[in-house]
Amino acid sequence: MIIAVDGPAAAGKGTLARRLAQHFGLGFLDTGALYRAAALRALESGGDPADPAVAEAAARRVSPEDIGDRRLREERVAQAASIVSAIPGVRAALLQFQRDFAARPPGAVLDGRDIGTVVCPGADVKIYVTASLEARAERRFQELRRAGEAVIYERVLQDMKDRDERDSARRTAPLRPADDAIVLDTTDLDAEATFQAALAAIEKKLAGKHRRDAR
Ligand code: C5P
Repeated sequence: MIIAVDGPAAAGKGTLARRLAQHFGLGFLDTGALYRAAALRALESGGDPADPAVAEAAARRVSPEDIGDRRLREERVAQAASIVSAIPGVRAALLQFQRDFAARPPGAVLDGRDIGTVVCPGADVKIYVTASLEARAERRFQELRRAGEAVIYERVLQDMKDRDERDSARRTAPLRPADDAIVLDTTDLDAEATFQAALAAIEKKLAGKHRRDAR
């Protein structure tokens, strides 16, 4: 079984995807970490992440060990990730790893921006998790404050807006819900309510699929 969880930053995708993976006994892949790892490698090389040659070389060097690097969570890396991820060669370099991961039995939950549309268009379940820009900025702001970072809300809001715009406007694999995705708005939901809503929608979807398969 493959579950695709897509959506903008800080909508609650990661938390939901991890819980679903645990619940269904599936693997879990945070695909944003791959783009972040490519961005970090590009920054570390001293080159410009917007330069396709620099970014593509960095993406080709990404390995599974990179995913655990704590620096991936830094805001400069998030911003650079949304720049490198608009480059088609970078997306191509990271595509097979994601598909191989999804294909490994018993299946997986992948979270990202284009899982339901590009990486796994045949996923059994596709969920598009979203929330208002202000709610997402507030969550990220609190997260950074808890981590002890000196942050300004307006700055977090602007960074999130810039990233949303870049992710949605790019030509290759833009952020958008797949036509057959379940859309979940988490503006007024906490993590538990989001999980319960997703679970109910998934069970309904799978029951419909089993009925169709049985016919
Ligand atoms: O999800 P996360 O915030 O870690 O993603 C960082 C950036 O990586 C996103 O802003 C987006 O530009 C890019 N990304 C992507 N496709 C994915 C996952 C992430 O373009 N499947």
